[in-house]
Amino acid sequence: MQRTFHCRSSTAEVFACLCSGMTGQERSEEKSECVSLSPMMEADPALPESERVCVFGTGDLGHSLGLRLLQAGYGVVFGSRRPHSSSRLPHGAQVLGHAAAAQSAHLIFIAVQREHYDFLVPLANQLKGKVLVDLSNNLRKNQYPEANAEYLQSLVPGAEVVKGFNTLSAWSLQNGPSDANRQVYICGESAEAKEAVIAVATKLGLSALDRGSISVARELEDFPLQLFPQWRLPLRIAIGLSAAFFFYLLIRYVIYAYVTQGKDISFRIMVSLANQVCPIVSLIMLSLCYLPGVLASFLQLYRGTKYRRFPNWLDRWMLCRKQLGLLSLGFAFLHVLYTLIIPIRYSVMFWVTEHTVSLIRENRTTMFDTTTAWHDDSYLSLGILGFGLYVLLGITSLPSVINSLSWREFSFVQSKLGHLTLLLCTAHTYLYGWNRFLSSSTYKWYTPPGYMLCLVLPSVVLLLKLLLITPCVDRTITRIRQGWERGADQRNPKDSQPLIP
Ligand code: NAP
Repeated sequence: MQRTFHCRSSTAEVFACLCSGMTGQERSEEKSECVSLSPMMEADPALPESERVCVFGTGDLGHSLGLRLLQAGYGVVFGSRRPHSSSRLPHGAQVLGHAAAAQSAHLIFIAVQREHYDFLVPLANQLKGKVLVDLSNNLRKNQYPEANAEYLQSLVPGAEVVKGFNTLSAWSLQNGPSDANRQVYICGESAEAKEAVIAVATKLGLSALDRGSISVARELEDFPLQLFPQWRLPLRIAIGLSAAFFFYLLIRYVIYAYVTQGKDISFRIMVSLANQVCPIVSLIMLSLCYLPGVLASFLQLYRGTKYRRFPNWLDRWMLCRKQLGLLSLGFAFLHVLYTLIIPIRYSVMFWVTEHTVSLIRENRTTMFDTTTAWHDDSYLSLGILGFGLYVLLGITSLPSVINSLSWREFSFVQSKLGHLTLLLCTAHTYLYGWNRFLSSSTYKWYTPPGYMLCLVLPSVVLLLKLLLITPCVDRTITRIRQGWERGADQRNPKDSQPLIP
């Protein structure tokens, strides 16, 4: 659609002059910069100043922000280097030169890259007392000696700089708020300026969180540079475990067979080996998900209080339990897929046919073994039940599902059913080992198989959990979690009455 530009339309002209407050000479120069994109919806000079906002920069973010501000009912005036040629502005906005635009509103969003901030220096007079919202981000951490917002404040000392909105992208602004991008962070020295920015954020449907003074600006500028920060540790653990077990199993199966029997079974790497690595990593990661909770309980028991901070490493570990759990579910899912394709594998079909043909040739039959059938069915059944609960845990970690659960329901699923999942999966693995634990042929080159190694951690977690749920330990832990402190009885005799009668 062809858009009509109305340069020097009378209303725009009056508005520019009204708001600029410039000398006649300046006004006549600035007049030629005044462009309205729609005669019907241009920023209404009758609007109170609080209902008008200015955006410097007509690029991606400026455009999207302007559009959202217009939709929220604000009068929007863009400040641009080339007001005449700004062709992609939202319908209803007005575009002026920087100086005139600055005069039109109290609050100015700076949607310009930090490298160009020096264009603001000559505007120091027009920007005096204005609230400047610094939206800028950097390409990497510590790119500049000081935060962009602090730099902006040093260039325009007469203005009140507020850092904020930089965690939103132009794309998310255009697409409207969703749960994920509703939160914005702000910081700045002036409480009044921050209130003005919070008011705009609220009207845009965003929720603004005041993070404090301008010294926090660098932290806010680093936010958008973060790449899955909570997933980093769990991903490293998953990759480390997968690599370690892959090489361990490669040596024990493929290389061992080649060295001792001269057999090339390297084709097993693709499915058989992968189908051993996945359940091993999955079970260890599920244990790692429940181990910190158990350790925290023992630490509270040892300290006799819940009011002392956990060590940093334990805090960090507890915070990434969800990611550990979700990754372990991913590995369990791969294990299920690999197991389901076993019957259609060429090597398996070949061996089954070969075995059947050899039985016919030799006129032999085999007897049905009920014990083996029981073992196989129990092993598979525990695996299926464990995986079902695994999926349930994964679903209940979704934010929308969490929101629909009470705290008690959430903790029942994640703690009680979570430990039950660990128990079922551990039992599934013990059944896999079955009578091979005591067979010497299992220990190739005197090394235990992978499934035995992976049973160590879940067994320890389950044993510790069993200790914690014994009545005497459980009673003490519950008292501690309700605020009781060991030793406080002596300090204050009133506290000696038990919290749980
Ligand atoms: P952009 O598309 O490159 O637009 C920047 C605008 O700044 C230009 O359109 C131009 O507007 C103006 N400008 C360019 N050179 C200038 C100069 N020398 N002097 C004065 N003004 C100049 O950038 P953007 O993506 O909108 O980003 C703007 C700021 O927002 C950046 O600091 C960025 O880090 C931050 N940010 C962007 C996003 C995003 O999703 N894009 C998200 C968060 C934060 P005129 O031609 O109209 O003058």
